Amino acid sequence: MGKILGIIGGGQLGMMITEAAKKMPEHISKIIVLDPTENCPAAQVGAEQIIADFKNKDAIVDLANKSDIITYEIESGDSDVLKSVEKNSEINPSPETLRIIQDKFLQKSFLLENNIPVPEFIKIKNIDDVKKGLKKFGYPALLKARRDAYDGRGNFKINSQDDVQKAFDYFKGQNLLLEKFVPFCMEVSVIGSRNTKGQIKTYPLVENIHDDNILRETIAPARVTEEVTKKAEQIAEKTMAVLKGAGIFGIEMFVTQNDDVLINEIAPRVHNSGHHTLQSSETSQFEQHLRAILGLDLGSTKLIHNTIMYNILGIKSFEGKYAPITLSEPNVYLKMYGKQISKPLRKLGHFNLVAEHGETVEQLLKKLKILKEKVTIEPLH
Ligand code: ATP
Ligand code: MG
Repeated sequence: MGKILGIIGGGQLGMMITEAAKKMPEHISKIIVLDPTENCPAAQVGAEQIIADFKNKDAIVDLANKSDIITYEIESGDSDVLKSVEKNSEINPSPETLRIIQDKFLQKSFLLENNIPVPEFIKIKNIDDVKKGLKKFGYPALLKARRDAYDGRGNFKINSQDDVQKAFDYFKGQNLLLEKFVPFCMEVSVIGSRNTKGQIKTYPLVENIHDDNILRETIAPARVTEEVTKKAEQIAEKTMAVLKGAGIFGIEMFVTQNDDVLINEIAPRVHNSGHHTLQSSETSQFEQHLRAILGLDLGSTKLIHNTIMYNILGIKSFEGKYAPITLSEPNVYLKMYGKQISKPLRKLGHFNLVAEHGETVEQLLKKLKILKEKVTIEPLH
């Protein structure tokens, strides 16, 4: 008999986990998601939905009572509440790992204790700590919220003395850390997986292109030297070895001008930079996540085809309904997330552009330029 899977969060990540789960009926008989938006993306592809806030304790308890196994697609869940329901349902990744990861200061301290390279950082209690930190790190530096940040909304770049008060006030009493600015030459990531039996597999290194702090494109594989690839993959493997819990982890890193590799941050969940695996690999990150939390053997993580993932985002100046996107091109796999409303820079879908006959990344990038024009969001009035 298959298990009942509960997912906290039913956005696009929950949607793609649900779709992978539907293909494993012998292991998973039903999927229930907890999400505040009625008819959320996961509900549109066959998950049952509990409509409630992610942090609603009663709703989490309800989900735990109805599920054999619980996972999440967001890292902002209340780890204490999850710990309290852990006795009834298996939760992966473990609430203890979530507790460490969801606090950027605890996460970075944990990595540092394990000799994994991260940018220099300090804990901030008051504005004097910021000034002290700036003396140490110099300008620019980043003031960051310790918790609940996404798409760069929890970061404030301090360029000069004039920004200090502004930056401090921006966070209105939240817990903070200050981080040295890394003038990186590339952002890269590795998707790591561990199953409940302790087997670990990592996907090959990919390159991430951000704009306005939001991921725009992922290029698989990353265009770096073999030496950098090796370094980054070793760091990812070491990280997977010290982090507890089963599931997928998205490990974001910076490559510096000296070819050093530092971890920016870890997401304890399937990750946007792993969407290419839907077509580029034998095992998608979503199937791998399920294999990991169900204790099945992990699938192959080999990159079969060079692939570029392109995020389709809402345009900046518009909120409302938008015209349907279609894209029928060879070797292009469009995935829209079923969101009714476009918002500025909201992730509405993505497509994967897959190489044929050994096409290079450079050749794919040329094709991408033309394809991008075909997926712009058109407002419906
Ligand atoms: P996301 O939701 O995209 O993960 P976030 O709000 O958690 O974002 P971070 O991951 O901390 O924020 O940072 C977002 C982006 O800001 C990074 O991808 C990187 O481009 C830039 N950034 C973060 N920290 C640094 C740093 N120390 N030096 C230089 N750039 C940085
Ligand atoms: Mg981040």
